[in-house]
Formats: sequence, C-alpha cells, structure tokens
Amino acid sequence: MRKTLLAVAVSAAVSLGACSDANDSSTTENKTASTEASKDSSQQAKETNPFYKPSPLLYQAPDFDAIEFKHFEPAFEKGMEEHMAEIEAIANNSAEPTFENTIVAMEKSGAILGRVSSVFYNLSSSNSNEQIRELQGKLAPKLAAHSDNIRLNAKLFARIKSLHDKRDELELDTASERLLEDTYKGFVRAGAELNEDEQQQIRDVNSQLSSLTTEFRNSLMKLTKENVIVVDSKEELAGLSDSQISSLASAAESRDMPGKYAITLTNTTRQSILTDLENRELRQRIWETSSNRGTGNTETDTRPMVAKLTQLRAEKANLLGYDTWGDYVLEENMAGNPEAAQKMLRDLVPAVVSNVESEAEEIRAMIEAEGEQHELKPWDWFYYAEKVREEKYAIDSDEVKKYFEFNRVLEDGVFYAMNQLFGITFEERNDIPVYQDDVVVYEVKDVDGSSLGLFYADYYARDSKRGGAWMSSFRTQSELMNQKPVILNNMNITKAPEGEPTLLSFDEVSTMFHEMGHALHGMFSDVKYPSQAGTSVPRDYVEFPSTFQEDWTLNPKVIANYAKHYETGEQIPDELLQKVLDARNFNQGFDTLEYISAALLDLEYHTVEPGTEISDIEKFEQDALEKNGVAIEAVPPRYRSTYFAHVFAGGYSAGYYAYMWSEVLAADAFKHMGNNGGLSLENGQAFRKEILSKGSSKDPMQQYIDWRGQEPTVEALLERRGLTNPSID
Ligand SMILES: [Zn+2]
Repeated sequence: MRKTLLAVAVSAAVSLGACSDANDSSTTENKTASTEASKDSSQQAKETNPFYKPSPLLYQAPDFDAIEFKHFEPAFEKGMEEHMAEIEAIANNSAEPTFENTIVAMEKSGAILGRVSSVFYNLSSSNSNEQIRELQGKLAPKLAAHSDNIRLNAKLFARIKSLHDKRDELELDTASERLLEDTYKGFVRAGAELNEDEQQQIRDVNSQLSSLTTEFRNSLMKLTKENVIVVDSKEELAGLSDSQISSLASAAESRDMPGKYAITLTNTTRQSILTDLENRELRQRIWETSSNRGTGNTETDTRPMVAKLTQLRAEKANLLGYDTWGDYVLEENMAGNPEAAQKMLRDLVPAVVSNVESEAEEIRAMIEAEGEQHELKPWDWFYYAEKVREEKYAIDSDEVKKYFEFNRVLEDGVFYAMNQLFGITFEERNDIPVYQDDVVVYEVKDVDGSSLGLFYADYYARDSKRGGAWMSSFRTQSELMNQKPVILNNMNITKAPEGEPTLLSFDEVSTMFHEMGHALHGMFSDVKYPSQAGTSVPRDYVEFPSTFQEDWTLNPKVIANYAKHYETGEQIPDELLQKVLDARNFNQGFDTLEYISAALLDLEYHTVEPGTEISDIEKFEQDALEKNGVAIEAVPPRYRSTYFAHVFAGGYSAGYYAYMWSEVLAADAFKHMGNNGGLSLENGQAFRKEILSKGSSKDPMQQYIDWRGQEPTVEALLERRGLTNPSID
C-alpha cells in the first residue's frame, strides 16, 4: 500500500498511488548504476537537474534554490525510465525469488521519480500555476500507465506470488509479513491475475480515470476564478469588519477591479462570510454562486466528469471482481465494506436530524424576533445562528478572535501542547530554502535533543493554493533508506494586511492542531519500510491521530498558555473561555448533518451497479439525499457533487465517511487519556510508541488495542459532538 502522499486529506498526488516517494538513490543497487552512468555521459546537459541526485540539504529537503520548472518534465521521464529498469531487473533476476531480492528491492526502487513527484505534487497543491497544471495533465496518463506497467508485469507478479504462497516458511517479522501481504494484494487489486484482454481494459480505464481526476481538480481552481462575487458598494457589505472589507477591496484590486470588492469562494457549500453579512440578497447571491458551482452556470461544467468518473470506477471494480467501487475501496479499510460505513452513518441520522430540528427552531424564532417574516433558507442559517449563539452564549466571534493571534496560537498553543505531551521542540531553520516566502521551516527536536525531522509550515491562503487544509511530505521516514521525515502542513488562513496581526477563528485554531496531529504521525514514524511509514495507513484510521490532537485546543492548561489578547497580552477571561467551551456544541446538528449528507452521497455514487449511466447529476444527488433521510433544504451537504474534491479530485472516493470512523477512535482515545492523567509526557510516550510510530507496520485495530486495552466504543463520539437522544445501539 504505497499511499504515502495519498493518505492524507485530499491528496493531489492521485497518480502517485504506485510510485514510491521515499527512496534514496545512494542506496540503490549497483546493477542499475552502471546503465545510468553510460546514459548520463551522453546527456551532459541534463546532469544539472537537481532531481537526478539526492538533495544535498538536511534530510534531503528539496533544494528550492536549484529547482526550476524546466527540471520537472525531464526528471519525470528519466524517473519513470530508471524505475522501470529497476523493476525489470528485479523481475528478470535469474536468482530464486527471496523477500530481499524482490520485495525489499522494490521498496528501494524509483528514487528519482520519488524525489520529483513529491516536490511537483506538493507545489501543484500549494503553489500552482498554469504551467504546473498543464504539465500535471500531461503527466497523469503517463504515470498511470507507468504504474500499470509495474503492477501488470507478469514476471514480477510471479515472483511476488511465489513468495506469498510460501509466506509461512519465510520466517518474516510482523512488518515484513504485512509488507509481503500488502504488496501481493496490491498487485491482485491492480489486476495482476486477470487475462491480457482484461488487463488492457484496466489500463484504459486507469488512464481515463487519471485524466478525468486531474481535469476535475483543475476545474475546481477554474471554478474559484469564475465564481468571484463582485460587490460594487461598501454599503452592501454591512456587518463585515473594516479589516474584512479591506481584504475584499485588495482582492478586487488584484483582479483589476479597483474600487470594488471581491468575495472569493472556499471549496465548501457554506461560506464563512455568510455569518456576518446583513444584506440578505447578497447572502443569497453568494450562497447560490457557491452551491451552483460547476453545474453549467459558468464556463466550467464538472457534471459530465462526475458522471463519467462514477461510471468508470464501477466498471473497474467489476473487472476486478467486485460488485461496486465501494466494495473494492473499502476492502482495504477498517470498515471492510460500504454497508458497514453506511450503517455507521445512518445510525447517527435520527439523533443528528433531531438536533438540527431544534437548532432550526431557535433560528426561526430569531428571524421572527428580528422582525423578519421570511422562511429559513440555507443562506440565512449562519447569519441567524450567529445571533442565536450571541444570545445564548453571549459570545462574539470577533471578540474571541482577539485571543487567537496566529503566532501565539502556533508557538504557545500547538508547539506548546506537543512539547507538553511528547517533549519535542520546534526550531526555526532560516537556512533551508522554501518554495514561497510565507513558508517557514522548523527542525523538530526530540525530547532528548536529537533531531527528528523537518516541518514546513505553510499556513496562509493564496490564489495559487487549493482550498482546505492538509498534511503531506517531501520525504517519508524509513530505516531501510536511512531517511528522516520532511513533513508539510498547509492551511488557508487569510493573512492580515502588512503590519496587522492575523487573528484566527476557533475553527482555524483547531484545524491547526488537527494538521499537526497528521504531521506528528509522519514525524514520529519509526518503521523499516518506506511504504509503511507514518500516514500510509487505511483511510478510516488516518484521521484518528489528527482528530485526537485537535482536542488539546481547549485543554485548560494549553489554552491558558496561548489564548492571550493580541494587544494587551491578557489571558482570555474565564467567563469568555467557559462560553467558548459551552459554545463548542452549538450548531453540531448542522455541522454533523452536512458532513453525513456528503459522506452518504459519496457512498451512493460508489455503490452504483456497473453500467449505470447517470444522466442527471442534480437528480441523482437529490434522490441520494432523500433515500438516506438527509434531504433537508436548510442543511445542504458540505460538498455538492460538482465540487466534491475529496471524492472526485482526491483519494477519498467511497471514503469520505472515514473522518467519522476515525473520530470514533479519536474521541474514545482522548477521553481515555483524559481519564488517565491527561496531558503528560508519560501519556504522550505511550501513545507515540503504540500508535504514532507504527505507520502501517502493524494492523491498525491491533495498534489501538495495544494502547487502549480494548476496541473503541461510540459513546465518546456522541459526547464529543454534544449529540443528544442517540438512537445508536
Ligand atoms: Zn485530517
């Protein structure tokens, strides 16, 4: 399961599914080195390409001073060539297959491709441009074919199969046993056991899937550009703060519309600006623009891509002997099959809908109290919910924000909590080049002062970055390759104008803790094989460590350390803090339902029978929501089909439910730690040892049981979300 770049959030590196991104050519076997040497001497000009050699920087951090766009394409070409030569050498080895000369040799292969892929796909997410997008489109089918050429190599598979057949005689340790099993299964799942005709069909489908996924991803960026809401007068923006208004003004100016105001959409149905805007017509305009994205209202129409992707995935699953794409995908996850994931979600629906209904009642009462007579529409929800919140908890998000200044949150909050739990420290490294000026590199030091790896913090939003927040890596940890981790966190925090402090919302603060949770899963990885490192775990397990760390956001000791007024330095008053704590469960019905709706929608797309042609995306979506009892007008899914990036642009197809599945583990784990001493080095070390260091070298449920002593139960999840009247058994 080579999912190193794929495993987290919406990964951009869809085509990387079969490419190692954690190899070191200095340890690549000698037999390929000689062919490389003769090739290189005839191609002097290409020798300066920084991807051809391991980076000279600490832990092979990418040398952005040397990397230029022109290096990517030749490095991909040469990387695929080198990788294929290594694979051929393994497949054609005259020696009897051994674990070492086959499985371990594969782990070591693909050094150049790994180096160039990790840099290129990180940039395509964090700092993209037209050139990068174009090259990405060009590379996608080539990389898909490359992956197929490996997975469908009959000689190679014969070696793997012969090892797998006698696995009981090989006396392998647990991690090696899992590596053999996963490698074998990976080949079978890619079609290694099919006949030649069927394999050709798989290749065709893969190539189309890869191109369409790239097209969908690129379309999302186009949709963001096409759907900017331009406002002519400042009066229409009543309700926004001066700094919000000046941000909108500069956004318009950078789009050659001086004197106007530009509102750009984030990639969710809900838009945070709807909380503040008094002008109902403008709210409606923003909401409709957001919700109708990709449905043919502007140039870019993603509906045909959604239909085609669904159809192709069903076809591929069928070719491989599965009933649906969901069955194919979930076989590898903790859930095991789509029914188990659907059951977990559907069991929550009654409790969640009943919470939504009481929230809606309060909001309707507020609309009336404000002297308005209109119905509750989706574009009203957040505006009035904020008023309910203010009344009920007398809490003003702008007031709270003053205690969440960016640097304090990062250093005295996130870094501090991780120090209290694991003893680690973060030291800024100005000497390591970055790909964009806002990026800050830290060297992470262990409790004993030794160096663990590098952490790149890229927190600010920009036009060249895709939406959302995620963790990824430039290098993943591996003992075999003598490699330490080089990890990134990305967010989309709006940077305050020069000279002003960046103040965060509570959501942004907890997202920062969340992404650090993923980062440490990569950072603490202590495994032998690169493909088992850190976050390369099943999708419904990967969000567990991150969601777990999220909950330190409101830990009293942590909050006392970071939540200080940005001007006076005063600690957040107890009363305000208590309100923040109380308000945590506010709107949980809406939040949970919009998520569950999207997760169920994902599973509906990926449980269609092979051969199903979806002619009307909007109808399919509506039917899916109705069928699952979640079609509630005021609470639309968090993502509608036409911009559901997790599912149609990223690696989360049939897997969006995974966040909730992971949250069951996270909530149970956090509660357990809380009941047993909470924030302490001792607790941190135990969690790191049994869970964060293991990657996929051990079965995930076993990791959990080894730490917790038992499987998780759902009680803590319901508590965590403040959901009442649970009907779940
Ligand atoms: Zn996450």
